[in-house]
Amino acid sequence: MILPIYTYDQPVLRRETKLIDGDSAEIQKLIDDMIETMHNALGIGLAANQIGKSLAVTVVDLSDMKGYEETTPLVLINPVITGSNGESVYEEGCLSLPDIREEVVRPSEIGLTFLDRNFKQVEMEADRLLSRVIQHEIDHLHGKYFIEYLSAFKQSLLKGKLGRMKRGDVDTDYPVAPPPAAKKTAKKK
Ligand code: ZN
Repeated sequence: MILPIYTYDQPVLRRETKLIDGDSAEIQKLIDDMIETMHNALGIGLAANQIGKSLAVTVVDLSDMKGYEETTPLVLINPVITGSNGESVYEEGCLSLPDIREEVVRPSEIGLTFLDRNFKQVEMEADRLLSRVIQHEIDHLHGKYFIEYLSAFKQSLLKGKLGRMKRGDVDTDYPVAPPPAAKKTAKKK
């Protein structure tokens, strides 16, 4: 089922998500819904709190990206970054921050552990785009947006766009759930 994507600045996007303590039909359904929602929005990653569920699970699918055509969707439950190396710059976007794209500096390689969707413990190393997307998604699970890495000056330039987003003034090709403040404003009309 395709679910609306929560946009800036829904409180659930600012909160630390809860670790998942075991498998269940609900978790498996959530994972399926997340993959479907990500594909529908043409995204390459989605965290559970982006669809309003404060749980530590994220999905990544790079199969539409050059060089990753042979890859399949990756499900990361309770992921933890265990090490990092190097530095790289890449222009990031986010389904919860439509219309904003900015260059972000991050470690180029990471080591991580997580549970796959069968709740099997996995240890993995990631580099290039995969490392980038996983870091972006794990940040979501800790309540962090990529724009928090930008300089105060660059963040100030985004104020107008972010203000409109907060009021629910977003234009996307996928269903969204704007923040509660936006709903209040809309009701007054
Ligand atoms: Zn994002």
